[in-house]
Amino acid sequence: MSYVNTFIIADTEMSIKELASGASNLSTQFSIIIFDEELKDLAASYGAKNVYVYRCDASTMIEDSAKMISEKLQSNNADLVLVNNSVRGKLLAGKLAVYLDTCVVSGISSLEDKTTQRMVYGGAAFRSEKLTSNTAVITSGAGVFEITDPAVSSVSDTHFVDVVPSNKIKKIETQAKQEIVSNLAIAKKVVDMGRGFKEEADVEMCRELATLLGADLGCSRPVAENNGWLPKAVYIGITGMMLKPELVISLATSGQVQHMVGINQAKTIVAINKDENSPIFKSCDLGLVGDVYEILPKLIAKLR
Ligand SMILES: Cc1cc2nc3c(=O)[nH]c(=O)nc-3n(C[C@H](O)[C@H](O)[C@H](O)COP(=O)(O)OP(=O)(O)OC[C@H]3O[C@@H](n4cnc5c(N)ncnc54)[C@H](O)[C@@H]3O)c2cc1C
Repeated sequence: MSYVNTFIIADTEMSIKELASGASNLSTQFSIIIFDEELKDLAASYGAKNVYVYRCDASTMIEDSAKMISEKLQSNNADLVLVNNSVRGKLLAGKLAVYLDTCVVSGISSLEDKTTQRMVYGGAAFRSEKLTSNTAVITSGAGVFEITDPAVSSVSDTHFVDVVPSNKIKKIETQAKQEIVSNLAIAKKVVDMGRGFKEEADVEMCRELATLLGADLGCSRPVAENNGWLPKAVYIGITGMMLKPELVISLATSGQVQHMVGINQAKTIVAINKDENSPIFKSCDLGLVGDVYEILPKLIAKLR
């Protein structure tokens, strides 16, 4: 174990599962800080020593709790602070680092032996960083730690803390985002739809292939952002989802680096593209030169 006392700061159900699974392999013990009281049983089930629920009232933002959390981390000699790599998580991590007089390593892709790896230059390279400070503050997103089952038996102490805002920014209103149900972040198999498809109706062909394979459907950014054929929540790449599945089948994508960084940690990448000079063929394990409109119907018919 590289760490003695880890604190996780998680603002979603998925981040509790991922970060707790990671912390249980990295640290002798760990505690979880959450903001949503409803997640306290889930947090406890992962074997956390303590679960702290920082309660924010309707006008308080979670990053307002930074000062109070930093005092908790200091009094407990936390040596690792793992924060969800969400927008709010990153804001909180930055503030914590200031209070703890350390720095933040954000958006890691791995953490082993006190050494992080993360992508730099738009995904063209990885940078390794050795963590030498007394307290390491790291933000980590989906797919970095493999989710394990909750602890067989675990007893956690749950503590409630009412956040007293330490700055003058007030939350005025919260508008719920449209709920997108997608398991892409944890999918073992992914069908990846590219801009080479001609029309929105082709989404159904890709979706059928995904269903037959037991895969989830994702896409490149133009398919979601320019064409609006799939929700923005499922586009893959440096500004979208970063995945680590067993298998990706990439259909009519050209293999631009901004997209590939989201799938190049897959165990196997299969690509179909009609242009034999497409860069995707340099990044895949199995490449098929051909027209998706000829190959997919045959593949779907076979799988049916
Ligand atoms: C700052 C920045 C951030 C970005 N972030 C992302 C990101 O996070 N994710 C992302 O995806 N992109 C991102 N992009 C965009 C990225 O650079 C590419 O433009 C994008 O990934 C291309 O998507 P594509 O491969 O689907 O489309 P294209 O590049 O247009 O490729 C389509 C491919 O389909 C093939 N094709 C066409 N018809 C057929 C057919 N009938 N059968 C088989 N093959 C066919 C073509 O040969 C072509 O290779 C970003 C760009 C910038 C500048």
